[in-house]
Amino acid sequence: MNEFLPFSRPSIDEATIAAVAETLRSGWITSGPKVQEFEKQLSGYFGGRPVRTFNSGTCTMEIALRIAGLGHGDEVITTPISWVATANVILEVGATPVFADVDPATRNIDLDKVEAAITPRTKAIIPVYLAGKPVDMDRLYKIAARHKLRVVEDAAQAIGSTWQGKPIGSFGDFVSFSFQANKNITTSEGGCLVLNNTEEAALAEKYRLQGVTRSGYDGIEVDVLGGKFNMTDIAAAIGLGQFAQLNMITAQRRKLARHYFATLGKDFEAQTGAQLPPADFENTNWHLFQVVLPERITRADFMARMKDKNIGIGYHYAPIHLFKLYRAQGFKEGMFPIAERVGRQIVSLPMFAAMNENDVERTCVAMCEVLEN
Ligand SMILES: *Cc1c(COP(=O)(O)O)cnc(C)c1O
Repeated sequence: MNEFLPFSRPSIDEATIAAVAETLRSGWITSGPKVQEFEKQLSGYFGGRPVRTFNSGTCTMEIALRIAGLGHGDEVITTPISWVATANVILEVGATPVFADVDPATRNIDLDKVEAAITPRTKAIIPVYLAGKPVDMDRLYKIAARHKLRVVEDAAQAIGSTWQGKPIGSFGDFVSFSFQANKNITTSEGGCLVLNNTEEAALAEKYRLQGVTRSGYDGIEVDVLGGKFNMTDIAAAIGLGQFAQLNMITAQRRKLARHYFATLGKDFEAQTGAQLPPADFENTNWHLFQVVLPERITRADFMARMKDKNIGIGYHYAPIHLFKLYRAQGFKEGMFPIAERVGRQIVSLPMFAAMNENDVERTCVAMCEVLEN
């Protein structure tokens, strides 16, 4: 029997391991020169826009909402198909989450439904680029401009993705990335926020570390309520090593995604009733390769039978509005039917840079066997 194939696994090279060891020996292990260097390199990649790093992707979105001044009485529109962090940050700042259903083809928020959900209290949109696939960015920013809304892009999964040749993060409003262990590049845990100007960057620094600012000679002042969200130099050393591999990782994932399509063949959907992801090789970084299963098989059954064949399957995500915390806010079944169907049947097949074409083929054979009987 083949060895177990997980759905995701980080690729950390020896140079990165050596850089982490060097940082540990350096005597400076919290935020320091490695964090500054990582922020500088990220900023270069994002077209020179200000970038600050943090200890999670989640807190970058919360901080972006705080910088935008959002709070009680403000509505923020987002998708029900995301990691729960995307909606939790809205509640965290005291604002009200408003969900808009997803597009069945992209599984991303449906921009028609975003427009329909806008009220006089709407202040921001948090689009999510599921599996790294961007929404229609031109249309997103047209809607935002027309209704004077801030955008906090949940690009947690989208580092390396592009729009009309430009990296996601190199344009737009706030753009948030995660470097959690499963993401295309990782710092084990961490994230970064791309900002619009130096004023926002200064505020991000305050929110990142207890609201502290340095003012005057040897003095400090605290004038906003910040938290403890800084990245360590140990994490930044991992990030620098990973960032150097970003193009390789993205290219490898695109190659594997193409191989999934080629191996499954053009009749796969008609034969099995399963739905493949949109075949986007221009913009998507292929953070995930997601299939929506036909209704005749439950996800739990599919996952168990794939596990018997030594293949790990993930799922991203259960619809947020059906969690107890969100039901308590008045959300219930039937409100977002496409998200509910996708959320029930979506699975993530193995996809990571160190995988090979044989792993793809093994997964396809196993999946077809499970779907055929
Ligand atoms: C990973 C992820 C997050 C959260 O990032 P953390 O770094 O784990 O805090 C938020 N949204 C999406 C879509 C994600 O994939």
